[in-house]
Amino acid sequence: MEPLGESVCPYCGVGCRLAFEGVKNQVLRVRGVEAAPANLGGICAKGAQLGPTIRTADRLTKPQLRLSRHDAFRSVDWDTALRYAAEIFTNLLHTHGPQAVAFYGSGQLDTQTVYLITKLFKGHLGCNNTDSNSRLCMAAAVAGYRTSLGCDGPPTCYDDIELADLILIMGSNMAEAHPVTFDRIRASKKKRPEQQIVVIDPRRTVTALAADLHLAVAPGGDIALLNALGKILINIGAVDRAFVGDHTRGFEEFRQFLQAQDVNELSAVAGVAPGELFALASRIAEAGSLLSFYCMGLNQSTVGMWKNNSLINLHLLTGQIGKPGAGPFSLTGQPNAMGGREGGLLSHQLPGYRFVEDALHRAELEAFWQRPKGTISQKPGLTAVEMFRALEKGQLKALWIAGTNPAVSLPDLHQVRRALQKAQLVVVQDVYHPTETTRLADVILPVAQWGEKDWTSTNSERMVSYSPKLWDPPGEALPDWQILARFAAALGFEGFNYSDAGQVWDEFIQLTKGRPCDMAGATSERLRDVTSLQWPCPTPDHPGTKRRYLDKVFGTPDGKALFLPRDHREPREVPDHEFPFILTTGRLYTHWHTLTRTAKADKLVKREPGPFVEVNPEDAGQLGVDDGDLLQISSRRGTVQLPARLHTGVLPGMVFLPFHWGDQFCEGNAANYLTISAIGRVAKQPELKFCAVALEKVRSDHPQLTTNHSPLTTHQP
Ligand code: SF4
Repeated sequence: MEPLGESVCPYCGVGCRLAFEGVKNQVLRVRGVEAAPANLGGICAKGAQLGPTIRTADRLTKPQLRLSRHDAFRSVDWDTALRYAAEIFTNLLHTHGPQAVAFYGSGQLDTQTVYLITKLFKGHLGCNNTDSNSRLCMAAAVAGYRTSLGCDGPPTCYDDIELADLILIMGSNMAEAHPVTFDRIRASKKKRPEQQIVVIDPRRTVTALAADLHLAVAPGGDIALLNALGKILINIGAVDRAFVGDHTRGFEEFRQFLQAQDVNELSAVAGVAPGELFALASRIAEAGSLLSFYCMGLNQSTVGMWKNNSLINLHLLTGQIGKPGAGPFSLTGQPNAMGGREGGLLSHQLPGYRFVEDALHRAELEAFWQRPKGTISQKPGLTAVEMFRALEKGQLKALWIAGTNPAVSLPDLHQVRRALQKAQLVVVQDVYHPTETTRLADVILPVAQWGEKDWTSTNSERMVSYSPKLWDPPGEALPDWQILARFAAALGFEGFNYSDAGQVWDEFIQLTKGRPCDMAGATSERLRDVTSLQWPCPTPDHPGTKRRYLDKVFGTPDGKALFLPRDHREPREVPDHEFPFILTTGRLYTHWHTLTRTAKADKLVKREPGPFVEVNPEDAGQLGVDDGDLLQISSRRGTVQLPARLHTGVLPGMVFLPFHWGDQFCEGNAANYLTISAIGRVAKQPELKFCAVALEKVRSDHPQLTTNHSPLTTHQP
């Protein structure tokens, strides 16, 4: 066995650096790198089991093309595949204009790829229809930071964990979704038993079990809970008057807004007793430093941005921001969700934290890319859910998908499937085939994955990391960025001729110069040497920045952060007599997104072999359901049948479904056949955590659901 090198883990936003050992490109052992600031040697089961996911029988090795959805795919060469897609794109652009095409990407894509998508679609096709599955994870956090603090991006870092007196975890099951960061919290608590961990979550998750205090907020009751805390904090005199006076705006309006609300009424909406709210408020008031982690539980809501604003209001009120051990810390789900934001992948963004609505930003980009004035449209493009709606209506005609599996991960899957079937052209860049999405494609392009290319990514704490190519990709698979560059050339554009990933990176970081996410000092040469740097890092000798806003100057025009009064709003679809239960969805420790990778690791599959629905025993008793019984779950959009898992950790009236398993593993029973595609007004993030469902026990002679985790044999070459 020999060392094969190091790479950032391709799974979650913690961004662990992992070291691989084996023979040639056969990975036999994986361990966390001790010197890596993101994980300090830590690793979780998913990272440790990357070996079996690298060379599998379903790895794509050549481009695949079919002229009709009734045909089988045939292997073609790269020129044929890209010329075919380019001809259809050119015709559609000529006939219908740039609104007829779109790109749906992912937080899995490296920053080089994200940058080239933006450059090609926004800067050359005049099409802002680029979005990402990050829209499903953290668009509300982006909008929350921007509206409250004037600028996106977390102010905090992982090193704040040991310095915080109180760690508040809200709407995040970190122990399963960001395990290495949660391990660090556990270790910190062990060293400092006086450190307080508070979890606010409707479910008694593994994270909640480790907390000093768990408040089981009613699903959708987050804003009411945060407002109650805000009011109590003001009433008990916990306001940091100096900070609020010098560095914020809108406090008086916020105070009046809260004074008009009744804590008992807020407590009823939040489903948390007033006594518990007072107890938590006292802990916050007494804490020298408050660090809050949050994730999908706050974000995946039609009022996700408001939930973010409401949490940030508490940090402003208590002055718990811009100092060590304190601040609102939005966790990102994917390894490069942050890089997507920096590179301008979301439909309203441009590279370097710029925005399509801003005339100056458009002009800067057009000049940099040497494009005619007015090339970049000022209208934000379609977001994730909107793309699939437009596709079904026929307004959007061609969709290019990369690094994501929307036929499992988007809400309202029946609609998503109808939309993809209606498209004139679906191109999918992926590592594996078949997936639920590649099965609906016209062109499939084989991708070199994480260990098979040079790439750059940014984790949850703004840490930019370089990962080198460790072994060759199979067959003709190419890095995503090269596929985009070749497609741009097939469309007839110049300016996409790059020698390597470093050259793309060095071009991109020029666009961050002087911007909030300044990475001008993190050149590819320097990153190859030091491996990782936290932005802002404006000059080649700059050490990087652990914490933002230490000077208390925020990203607003006058540098002051904003209190934003936000009222409780009901979720878009509430339970009624027909659909009396609340469905919430989420992740499990052992699996990643739609199982394209983790289903190939037997050790992970053994731990969680198939989908299930978690039901409170009280509800189960009323339905006559025992552990393991097959339960039918129906919403206004679909019906699935899954084995019941009785668990007191879900509140009565609520059920939980992990969203990992798609049609490849349990045909027709994916969680997202049920979920609602309602989206927020500003962040446009779908409400994946809340919809109304009905439950019914399936007849006892109904055949048990079986899952198939090994449709494809895994092997190492
Ligand atoms: Fe990978 Fe996340 Fe696990 Fe770290 S915590 S090894 S980044 S999945």
